[in-house]
Amino acid sequence: MLQTFFAEDHEIFRKSVRDYVEKELLPHADEWEEAQDFPNEVYRQMGELGFLGAGYPEEQGGSGGDYWHVTVVCEELPRSRMAGLNMAMMVQSQMATPVIGAIGTPEQVEEFLKPALAGQRIAALAVTEPDAGSDVASLRTTAKRDGDDYVINGQKTFITSGARADFLTLAVRTGGPGFSGVSLVLCPTDAKGFKVGRKLRKMGNHTSDTAEIYFEDCRIPARYLLGEENQGFIYIMQNFQGERLVAAIAGVAGSQLLWDDAYRYGMERHVFGKPVAKFQVWKHQLVDLLTQIEAARWLTYRCVDLHNRQQACVKEISMAKLFVGELANRVADRCVQIHGGYGYIDEYPCSRAFRDVRVLTIGGGTSEIMKEIIAKCVGL
Ligand SMILES: Cc1cc2nc3c(=O)[nH]c(=O)nc-3n(C[C@H](O)[C@H](O)[C@H](O)COP(=O)(O)OP(=O)(O)OC[C@H]3O[C@@H](n4cnc5c(N)ncnc54)[C@H](O)[C@@H]3O)c2cc1C
Repeated sequence: MLQTFFAEDHEIFRKSVRDYVEKELLPHADEWEEAQDFPNEVYRQMGELGFLGAGYPEEQGGSGGDYWHVTVVCEELPRSRMAGLNMAMMVQSQMATPVIGAIGTPEQVEEFLKPALAGQRIAALAVTEPDAGSDVASLRTTAKRDGDDYVINGQKTFITSGARADFLTLAVRTGGPGFSGVSLVLCPTDAKGFKVGRKLRKMGNHTSDTAEIYFEDCRIPARYLLGEENQGFIYIMQNFQGERLVAAIAGVAGSQLLWDDAYRYGMERHVFGKPVAKFQVWKHQLVDLLTQIEAARWLTYRCVDLHNRQQACVKEISMAKLFVGELANRVADRCVQIHGGYGYIDEYPCSRAFRDVRVLTIGGGTSEIMKEIIAKCVGL
């Protein structure tokens, strides 16, 4: 069955992504986590290698392939053991930019998408505000038309790569209240009136920057409007599908890595004369988690298959995001527990992962919001 999804070229691609992640990223994990930063060079390398452009057509600056190539990148990135860096890369290629490929003008593709996929211009997606997270339709940042420009005023928060971004895919209010007054624009961060506030200190995902950003009479050309004015809410909801799907794919792969760590440690560590993992209580826990990871993988692959064939799958993707987010937290918790005291020590990957996975049930739509969407899909 896997062969129907991953053909030979996917596996060759997987090898090149894995080689890069294990040789060029993993060795820096401790240093970059400590610094809470990573060099911009990583964007350029991943751009040049075609990892950021996976799934995009060549005429848009992509490296071609289908959504299974995107899946390969998202499955291999967790091997870097830097969830923050991985998130920044997924924002760059699968969260802030797909909407440009989908509805952008040829000029917008040239100016924003192509350099982003090449890793030359850093992208961020700016939707959330201090008073509008789950309830996207209540966002308040305004963009008022003034001649050939939009003038933007307001504030966004929790923006991944917000402090280092060269441009934002930005949600603004161009019309009246509610979802029908929202638009999407592309906002270069060198525009006058744009300001980065604080870089927020976080529980995990330390290698990504997460910023507050401000707009004070920030002027951008009206040609940077994405698609049609006041249709932004629909574009955001469509864009969320890819965002949630890559989170689920990476969440499954990350959970498998953690399970492998737990298994390895449980077999090596002896207590009361035998390996920890050989106690029935641990055998059963490990088996339960492995079964759930396998189920999560197949739910996620089902979504990838549907998404790849451009079939509607809002319900399935919401289920995958919900199921994987909750599962990844359980796996991380049990992985720490089987490590005993060592699981609480920073140098063990599960300690970092325990903090990192917490965001999976929050970012890109919380578990509660996923349940609301699924409920709506089934008429509840
Ligand atoms: C590390 C990190 C990175 C992020 N990156 C980005 C980014 O790059 N770009 C961006 O735009 N945003 C980003 N976010 C923001 C993220 O998407 C929001 O935090 C998330 O959507 C939740 O919004 P909120 O924080 O305002 O919570 P709220 O919407 O205030 O929710 C608070 C609580 O209420 C619950 N709740 C809300 N509505 C309902 C309901 N109808 N029924 C039941 N319960 C409900 C929620 O589930 C949650 O538990 C990031 C967040 C984090 C933590």
